[in-house]
Amino acid sequence: MNRLIERRRRLLAQLPSLDEVLRGSLVERSVRCGKASCRCANGELHVAVYLSVTHRGGRTEQISVPRELVASVRDGIAVYQQWWEILEQVATVNRDLLRHRRAQRGGVADGAGRRTARRRRRQSA
Ligand SMILES: [Zn+2]
Repeated sequence: MNRLIERRRRLLAQLPSLDEVLRGSLVERSVRCGKASCRCANGELHVAVYLSVTHRGGRTEQISVPRELVASVRDGIAVYQQWWEILEQVATVNRDLLRHRRAQRGGVADGAGRRTARRRRRQSA
């Protein structure tokens, strides 16, 4: 159990700062700028980078990212993924801790577990 608590402490210590966190992904698109005299008018397209974010309900938002900001946007997306990964790992550790603590108390009778199953589902919804 101390091993689990120590693992949880180490995981939490790895959480990066959320200051610059971003959700979404970087996508590249080839675009025409619209100027008739530009090389892109002859098919030599510009590469534009976007932060693409999908919202609940399926709507997608795209924000163009200037070249000099691409690295920091990439870092912000990485922070989001790191938080999710650590969150999942901490939740896994806490499930193991719950099993240990339950076992220390002598466990829960199967019948009692079944009787409370309905209430538990309702709370998680
Ligand atoms: Zn152009």
